[in-house]
Amino acid sequence: MALSSERLFDSLGHFGRFQACVYFASVFQAMSCGIHYLASVFMAVTPNFVCGFPGNVSSVLFHNSSASSIEDIWTLWTSTENYVVVQLGNGEIWELDQCSRSKREVSLDLAYEYKGNKSVFPCSDGFLYDDTKWKSTVVTQWDLVCDREWLAKLIQPMFMLGVLIGAVIFGDIADRLGRQRVIWFTSAGQFVFGIAVAFTFDYYSFVIVRFLLAMVSSGYLVVAFVYVTEFVGIKARTWASMHVHAFFAMGIMIVALVGFLVRTWWVYQIFLSIATIPFVLCCWMLPETPFWLLSEERYEDAQKVIDTMARWNKVSTPCKVSELCSVQQDDPASSRMGDDDTSSAKKHNILDLFCNWQIARRTITVWLIWFTGSLGYYVFSLSSVSLGGNEYLNLFLIGAVELPCYIIACVAMDKLGRRNTLIPFLILSALICVLIMFIPQDFNILIILANMAGKFSIGVAFGLIYLYTAELYPTIVRSLAVGSGSMMCRVGSVVAPFCVYLRSVWIFMPLVGTCLLWLCILEMASPKVAVVGAGVIGLSTALCITETCPSCSVTVLSDQFSPNTTSDVAAGMLIPHTYPDTPIHRQKQWFKETFTYLFAISNSAEASEAGIHLVSGWQIFKSTPKEELPFWSDIVLGFRPMSETELQKFPQHRFGQAFTTLKCDCPPYLLWLEKRLKATGTQMYTRKVADLWELHSEYDIVVNCTGIGAQQLVGDKQLFPVRGQVLKVYAPWVKQFIRDGDGLTYIYPGIHKVTLGGTREKGIWSLSPDAYTTRDIFDRCCSLEPSLQAAQDIKVKVGLRPSRQCVRLQTEVLSQGGVKLPVVHNYGHGAGGFSVHRGTAKEAAHLVEVCISALQGSSSRAKL
Ligand code: FAD
Repeated sequence: MALSSERLFDSLGHFGRFQACVYFASVFQAMSCGIHYLASVFMAVTPNFVCGFPGNVSSVLFHNSSASSIEDIWTLWTSTENYVVVQLGNGEIWELDQCSRSKREVSLDLAYEYKGNKSVFPCSDGFLYDDTKWKSTVVTQWDLVCDREWLAKLIQPMFMLGVLIGAVIFGDIADRLGRQRVIWFTSAGQFVFGIAVAFTFDYYSFVIVRFLLAMVSSGYLVVAFVYVTEFVGIKARTWASMHVHAFFAMGIMIVALVGFLVRTWWVYQIFLSIATIPFVLCCWMLPETPFWLLSEERYEDAQKVIDTMARWNKVSTPCKVSELCSVQQDDPASSRMGDDDTSSAKKHNILDLFCNWQIARRTITVWLIWFTGSLGYYVFSLSSVSLGGNEYLNLFLIGAVELPCYIIACVAMDKLGRRNTLIPFLILSALICVLIMFIPQDFNILIILANMAGKFSIGVAFGLIYLYTAELYPTIVRSLAVGSGSMMCRVGSVVAPFCVYLRSVWIFMPLVGTCLLWLCILEMASPKVAVVGAGVIGLSTALCITETCPSCSVTVLSDQFSPNTTSDVAAGMLIPHTYPDTPIHRQKQWFKETFTYLFAISNSAEASEAGIHLVSGWQIFKSTPKEELPFWSDIVLGFRPMSETELQKFPQHRFGQAFTTLKCDCPPYLLWLEKRLKATGTQMYTRKVADLWELHSEYDIVVNCTGIGAQQLVGDKQLFPVRGQVLKVYAPWVKQFIRDGDGLTYIYPGIHKVTLGGTREKGIWSLSPDAYTTRDIFDRCCSLEPSLQAAQDIKVKVGLRPSRQCVRLQTEVLSQGGVKLPVVHNYGHGAGGFSVHRGTAKEAAHLVEVCISALQGSSSRAKL
């Protein structure tokens, strides 16, 4: 849904009377999904059983207890290793095991222990089941025990497979045919298939009908999520979508209740299925969502729905469909398509979620959380009935424990941010998994409590990951990321029943879950740094951060990338500009570091790709300069006063300095920086940041490198633009740079073009080239280098130097409601950004390092 769709909710209300009715009707049916997903816990119970016997029983012996019928023995039954001894009316004595029976050859008197010969027979007379708890289950109905036990174990995984396939199929159909029809079909399907399951005549028809039931149930759930989010405005959306899970959990509680009351599997199934009836009867009244109608260009129908919403919500002047459509067209977010700088026309596939190591790590983590989240959710839910104690109460509590989960997740998500909520609950889940392994089997209460705590913590993480995944990825791959994540979640739910069976034979099973969770935690715990701005300062700062803190996950966010930044306009010459309020030794250090760094590049094979080269020339003065020896004179190469002969080239100038310095050809250098960053796995997204605080939930530290943009972003009144206009001309014969001492007129030869400058217009924001200024610059430069008259391909560029008395290079801690966000500012480089970029970037990276240590210190203190 495009952001501008919020216009609809601004006009009609985000969660008015209409939305409340639609929401509660839709989520009511989500209970049915919870019911069918978990129904098998009681329906497919395997009660105690022994092999059947031929004939009538006259007496039964179990250890020291004797009885007249097998039914009396079940209360004493303790283990599957037990056997029962029966004497038949014809005097034969049989030992009945679970999966075989043996006839004693010498049957003189009835004793439990017997050392003589026996003939072993298979259970060809069926089985005798303990019906004290369950009158019948599908296991007793179709004898799914012994060599057919695996069929019983397949019941839940087959259902979950149906869930997986249903989600894919109905998700797609809902986009093609509309949400309403899928909701109608799947809810009717839930009723029909739900009842049909009760009347299946054999195991295979039972599994097939349940598979169809699973498909429609998961289809309903997937589409209901979309349906409610398309009807609920952004202000209520997080709560609304989170609490769909809560209704699912209520379904689990209903299973426990019905299981307690009804002990015949097919009656139990009918009772569970009729929970759908109220919704099936009224779902025909649910309307199609206006957004789907708009996407299908059914404007009149969309308007009708909007009008109905308005009537119900008592809004007298509802918005018109035409307004929504025009907003959607104008919406820059939707027209830009994606959040990155790559072509919007490009088709994206799953490989985009692995395009570099950083994104791949993120994707693997997100998938692991989806997988372990759903695995944990179903393992805790399904195994709750076999923990001992009262299985109905256990299941009821395991459902009930989810209800506070989503409230806590919603509140914590807003207050602490997504990651800070997720990590503690993942840690808790992992610890509980370990704990469960060490609790002795006899400590029922403790095991049940640990299971509930596990379900609670995994529930928070699981509930949160849906929203968090959507936020972690840029728009263009967002649905791909969420779709693939929910697929992993379903894989987890298919695997879960097997883990429950495995847990009973392999005690270390929870350890696997723990390891997976720790992997997620480790990845989630790596500090996330957002660098805002993609000019020379932003890119070089991001690069320095990846070098000084390789474990960080760095993301560059910027509304413009090369070639649309101020840095692209610059001449890129390494001749420092002086910042009056910054000590000279600090400026000198910045310049030295920058010079040394670029000098190394200029000496490498990468020089031409990076656009870095040495250039010699002159700085000339009409009168003796204030400082004959600038602070940077010992950093550039071969600094010396110009000779008399050299000065003859500039008859109007009386004094000059000759030296060799470095020059960055700007777009190539920025592109090279971007390439280096991408190689380190840094992600780069096109995004305008309106307020740095908006990043607090996604990142631990924000670095502000927004150049002149900082004036608006952080309201810095000391920052002002100094407009500069330059010409980029083709004049390959010009090899020496010439800079008039006041820095206003200059000729800087680059690899392909020569930059002619310039202007310095303080406080002017206009980015439009001025024709008079162009002529003036050209004339001034020609007066210094007359050969430029022959220059060709003249291009005019304008940029706004982000000027300040000193570069703002400092840490600030933003704080709201007790939540803190450290921000490192690095902007205000004025006319000398290129000359000092590496030095200031290193200092900013160091500040980031300090912030990280502080964060890690405070989190470990918090853990202590
Ligand atoms: P920018 O390049 O402007 O980058 C700022 C970035 O922040 C941009 O990507 C922008 O899109 C992004 N941004 C801003 N606001 C937001 C927001 N709210 N949300 C998201 N992103 C945002 N310096 C030299 O050292 N040598 C020279 O020879 C030289 N010549 C120059 C010639 C001219 C004509 C001009 C104009 C400047 C020259 N400079 C020179 C100065 C140099 O260009 C600047 O100091 C330098 O480019 C500043 O870089 P920056 O990254 O801070 O700003």
